[in-house]
Amino acid sequence: MTTADKPDLTAYDAVLFDLDGVLTPTAEVHMHAWRTMFEELFAAWDITPPYTDDDYFASLDGKKRYDGVASLLRSRDVEIPWGDPSDPPEKDTICGIGNRKNVVFERVLRADGIAPYPGSVALLDVLAAAGTPIAVVSSSKNAEEVLRVAGLRERFPVVMDGVIAERDHLASKPAPDVFVEGARMLGVDPARSVAVEDAISGVQSAAAGGFALVIGVDRGVGASALSDAGAHLVVDDLQELV
Ligand SMILES: [Mg+2]
Repeated sequence: MTTADKPDLTAYDAVLFDLDGVLTPTAEVHMHAWRTMFEELFAAWDITPPYTDDDYFASLDGKKRYDGVASLLRSRDVEIPWGDPSDPPEKDTICGIGNRKNVVFERVLRADGIAPYPGSVALLDVLAAAGTPIAVVSSSKNAEEVLRVAGLRERFPVVMDGVIAERDHLASKPAPDVFVEGARMLGVDPARSVAVEDAISGVQSAAAGGFALVIGVDRGVGASALSDAGAHLVVDDLQELV
């Protein structure tokens, strides 16, 4: 990106950020939590071969939590009842084990902590200095906790997360609802605001929401995939916009 291409984000009314993969490397915490949980489960149930990070990419990455659990157990020829999302984390059902992973995630998050991407923090500093309003728009129900542990929570007056989306029955990304609601909570017009995303479904959501500028952050998805999804601009790191 040349200097001439570099947009001045402070010229927009607001900047709305996805959290996981944009502000924090949350995937690492999820990988650690899945590994911890399945190592304990495999040992208790004598399941072989042992869990490896290849299993994460083959069975878990990008899937809904319960579908991921079912897929991974199927890869070891283990069949258990699906259960119900209300199952407690101790229960040996697909849903119970999925809920157990969330408990382990919170444990790992608090034990390991999480450091935000330095380039993202640098951009937040620029926006704060200019007084540009910012918000988080995340599908995660852990967004508040991740922001707190990362030391970012107090920077954001508006956090539109998975808890609010569920409460208000908002359609998840790639539907535009969550980004549009984030802009509404911030009191800004998407047509004069910026959205920043690292996932294809997130870029599609922001593009469908009519944001003036949709920035894709390529953490591995690929620049062309993000462009095809509707990103006006793709960067490898937000430091490029500072
Ligand atoms: Mg993301």
